[in-house]
Amino acid sequence: MAVDVCSCDDATGRHVMDALTTKAQTAINITILPYHEALELLTPPMISSSSFSMNDSEIKHCRGALVFDHINERQLTIYSSAVVLASGGLGQLFKRASAPNVCVGDGVMMAWQAGCRLANLEFVQFHPTGLALDDSSFLISEALRGEGGRLYCPQTGVRFMLDVDERAELAPRDIVARAIANQISSNGLGYVHLDISHLPAAFIQAHFPQIYQTLLALGIDMTTDPIPVAPTAHYSCGGVVTCANGLTDVAGLYAAGEVAYTGLHGANRLASNSLLECVVVGRNIAANLPRYLKKIGTLKELRGFRENG
Ligand SMILES: Cc1cc2nc3c(=O)[nH]c(=O)nc-3n(C[C@H](O)[C@H](O)[C@H](O)COP(=O)(O)OP(=O)(O)OC[C@H]3O[C@@H](n4cnc5c(N)ncnc54)[C@H](O)[C@@H]3O)c2cc1C
Repeated sequence: MAVDVCSCDDATGRHVMDALTTKAQTAINITILPYHEALELLTPPMISSSSFSMNDSEIKHCRGALVFDHINERQLTIYSSAVVLASGGLGQLFKRASAPNVCVGDGVMMAWQAGCRLANLEFVQFHPTGLALDDSSFLISEALRGEGGRLYCPQTGVRFMLDVDERAELAPRDIVARAIANQISSNGLGYVHLDISHLPAAFIQAHFPQIYQTLLALGIDMTTDPIPVAPTAHYSCGGVVTCANGLTDVAGLYAAGEVAYTGLHGANRLASNSLLECVVVGRNIAANLPRYLKKIGTLKELRGFRENG
């Protein structure tokens, strides 16, 4: 089956987030708590439930989270009938990462503490071309190489990808990232050059408006100058073990997105697949949750389990 990959200028993520945020803010059944950080998942033993056949005390259920409210600087406990973990990946464990600063793997840690299995944590995909200026986490899109961008060793001027793969700069992500890492380590460099200045300036400005403006603000005019780039941690392939319906090892705890290991990506995900996975598993969870909620008792059973700290 052929699938189209959608994009919007060179800022697809921002447009996706703008649309989702508006939708969530206007939904009457969603309460958004900004600057609230989950610290720990609540997994009390089930006290009474009529529909489970196992001995209830043997079943671990996730019934909420201990949360820190960064605005009022207080800790609170939020009880819920089920929890969906969607806390993103763990890219920020690396020196150079494309992920937001908050992606430190805390979701993986909380799920593990709650009793979930983790898998494939060592499979972290590196994007070949992160901007290599100080601690920048800005990503230079692969579309730049798609449009003809070339990679050069800044020391020798050699277009090294020609010797690595017949597809040169269009080789898959892992091959290009490894080739750049080899250039950097064998020549004692901090970066290699990505150059698209052989294309007309108007084309570059029209196709890469965000990248062009961001680099310009940093003193790099990509219509005339090469861009310093280096591999950057980009996607956590492993995570909390779930099935394709997002179920974890703990009843009532679901996981979707980069925090989860659904097995759909293997060791090296294909570009553009992660948002697809978020949507598919998210929908599966939404379809599954009503059945789970029907099975369990009410929150009254849990009163007194934990007071607000
Ligand atoms: C620059 C860039 C370009 C990309 N391009 C593509 C692309 O073209 N196609 C594609 O498919 N994928 C792309 N990806 C990957 C994709 O964006 C991510 O895999 C995806 O956004 C992960 O979604 P998520 O909801 O799991 O996590 P995130 O989008 O990372 O969201 C996690 C959220 O959880 C919050 N959070 C974390 N910890 C806590 C906590 N303890 N308590 C409360 N909240 C918490 C964070 O603040 C954040 O809001 C790109 C990624 C980057 C960085």
